[in-house]
Amino acid sequence: MSHDEKRDELAPVVSLECARIADALAEGTIGPEHEEHLNHCADCAALVMEMDSVTSLLAEATAPVTPPRDFASRVLDRANTLTLDLDSDPYEDATKERGANARWPALAALASIAAVALAFWAGGMQAKLEAPERAAPAANQVAVAPAAPVAPATSSPTTVDRAEVTLRQAGGAELAPEPVQPAVVPEPAAIPEPSLDIPSEIQAALLQVIEDNDGCPKTSGGSVRITATVEPTGAIVDRQIVSSGDVTQAHRCVTEALDGLKLPPLAQRARVTLDLRW
Ligand SMILES: [Zn+2]
Repeated sequence: MSHDEKRDELAPVVSLECARIADALAEGTIGPEHEEHLNHCADCAALVMEMDSVTSLLAEATAPVTPPRDFASRVLDRANTLTLDLDSDPYEDATKERGANARWPALAALASIAAVALAFWAGGMQAKLEAPERAAPAANQVAVAPAAPVAPATSSPTTVDRAEVTLRQAGGAELAPEPVQPAVVPEPAAIPEPSLDIPSEIQAALLQVIEDNDGCPKTSGGSVRITATVEPTGAIVDRQIVSSGDVTQAHRCVTEALDGLKLPPLAQRARVTLDLRW
């Protein structure tokens, strides 16, 4: 899937993995576990590089030593290479003398990157803070439960019951008893960590998308509940979006935001329920 789709304003695509990278960047905790995603996501790799340059610029700017003589020009040169052309002709700009008007868009671009990272971080923190307090009447609640297995696969040796094993041994030519291993019954508490965080992450990502979408109402006016199954591949299936009262616009915004959400692979299929209200 092309990451260019992210820039399609009609159907914004938000990747939860990308949101995690932004979280980690904001907290300064980019680690080896993020390498795989950075290797195949040009957007995040670029974001990490830009944040690295911002960090080093800040470090230089706040260092208690006298800045080197060419510090200012290096900062401005760097800023100029990052100029983001919003509505001006890039060729026209390139022919201009390097002036103040060429610098501010670059600085604004860096500032907006930092703002986006902070917004992701704040959203994540909010979700983390709200999640444990199930009893409290939080506006946005989330829940996760392991989904029931779909079609039971053909019985594996460990799940064959003893009667069947005995019959097979009696009727078969082979007399060597099959090794009977104790069936591994996963405990309800043994849901992988990522599944537990998924509803909160989905909630934070969706709220961010909705906030950024000018076509969405400022307040939902009611609650919109999403119930869906997330496959181990990250695909969202069996989804239901139910809203209470007259929240047609909010309902539409949630649907659109969910359409554009990309989830990472999960260790286990999970049924998620979350309420959105803003
Ligand atoms: Zn990414």
